[in-house]
Amino acid sequence: MSNNCIIVGASHAGVSLALQLRKEAWTGSIQLISDETELPYHRPPLSKEYLSGQKDLEAIRLRPLKTYADNEIELLLATTVSQIHRESKSVSLSNGEQLDYDKLALCTGASVRKLPLSDSLINVHYIRRAEDVQRLSSQLKPCKRAVVVGGGYIGLEVAAVMAKKGVRVTVLEMSERILQRVTSEAMSSFMQQLHESHGVEIHTGVEVLELQGSNAVERVVCADGREFESDFVIVGIGVTANSSLAESAGLVVERGIQVNEYGQSSDADIYAAGDCTVHPSLLYQGDIQLESVQNANDQARVVAANICGRKQLYDAVPWFWSDQYDIKLQMAGLNEGYDQVVCRGADEVGPKVSFALFYLKQGRLLAADCVARPKEFMVSKQLIKNQAVIDPMILQDEAIEPINFMS
Ligand code: NAP
Repeated sequence: MSNNCIIVGASHAGVSLALQLRKEAWTGSIQLISDETELPYHRPPLSKEYLSGQKDLEAIRLRPLKTYADNEIELLLATTVSQIHRESKSVSLSNGEQLDYDKLALCTGASVRKLPLSDSLINVHYIRRAEDVQRLSSQLKPCKRAVVVGGGYIGLEVAAVMAKKGVRVTVLEMSERILQRVTSEAMSSFMQQLHESHGVEIHTGVEVLELQGSNAVERVVCADGREFESDFVIVGIGVTANSSLAESAGLVVERGIQVNEYGQSSDADIYAAGDCTVHPSLLYQGDIQLESVQNANDQARVVAANICGRKQLYDAVPWFWSDQYDIKLQMAGLNEGYDQVVCRGADEVGPKVSFALFYLKQGRLLAADCVARPKEFMVSKQLIKNQAVIDPMILQDEAIEPINFMS
């Protein structure tokens, strides 16, 4: 058995894990494997500054090449793991090679869900990798018509970039409101107004039936008969965990790779972190799946500690952010099950918009959505962690600084 840790996947989780292993004094070798050809990069800017052209790929690298060398991390790019052999503690690569591990960490991320209609059409775009954005960005010209399928974060962030470039954008969302999966009616309504104020057309409760065109899409046809002309289509209808490698190795997989509170899979020598996992949440009392950079980084750090024998629980408060137009939206916690929403400030679109929505369940703070409210966001993370019960009048009162919410 070699004293080797193999990490499959070199995005946020995989890279954090590798570097943290060194900080935890892992003395063995580390092999970090990526099927991408690019040096690992930040994914959030893909649908924002990278698409808009404000940043190039070099500006969004996770780490310079030198960092991997300095930390004796062997980075294997353009390399695909095809099988895990748990009995011999080794993995097969698609080039036929076999690598042995002492500990294995799966940071395989997630893949975009695809519309069952689009494979042969050249102007249908999905966004997950840098190369996807490179294909799309050359099309962003004023007066072009784009249809965005899916009003989640990908769809809306891309819509915002395109609208700013003068593209005529229509968003088609299947649910009754945009961002339905992740936020409240009040925030969905604010985001819809924000996009409409920038000329984006949003249609909800719409089912896309057909993408018409011979080689390229010319029009999107919906189940209710409506048709939308388009020069290109961007699809952002969610992701699914990349768990097939784990599944075929006989690990427990349920929507994603099932790990315990230490990030350990059903095999004690195989760990997992990031979008590909489902983990128990002490805070929200149940198994949860998080698709976020925060989860990838924080879970990976905990996994590194546990691989090195320092038992550490993963119980971070989830947080997310989204930049659209000049708005920074920061979200702390998960609001599922809330019975009260409290608004601090005015949730109306305008030049100096700034407000926070707090989600409570029986008085306990579950989550907060903050627009241009960094103090409320920071304080909320702590209050959510402490499972604080707070008087809604205090949350609303602008005379009380967030830092004093509990005093
Ligand atoms: P998402 O957040 O799951 O949103 C997809 C949206 O598309 C949902 O509202 C979904 O509605 C809708 N939808 C599904 N099938 C559809 C169809 N056939 N036609 C029209 N609409 C349909 O996923 P995403 O926006 O694609 O983003 C992918 C992942 O990246 C997500 O995990 C997301 O959280 C993450 N991401 C995060 C950020 C951020 O935090 N700033 C930015 C970009 C991406 P239903 O809910 O009814 O299925």
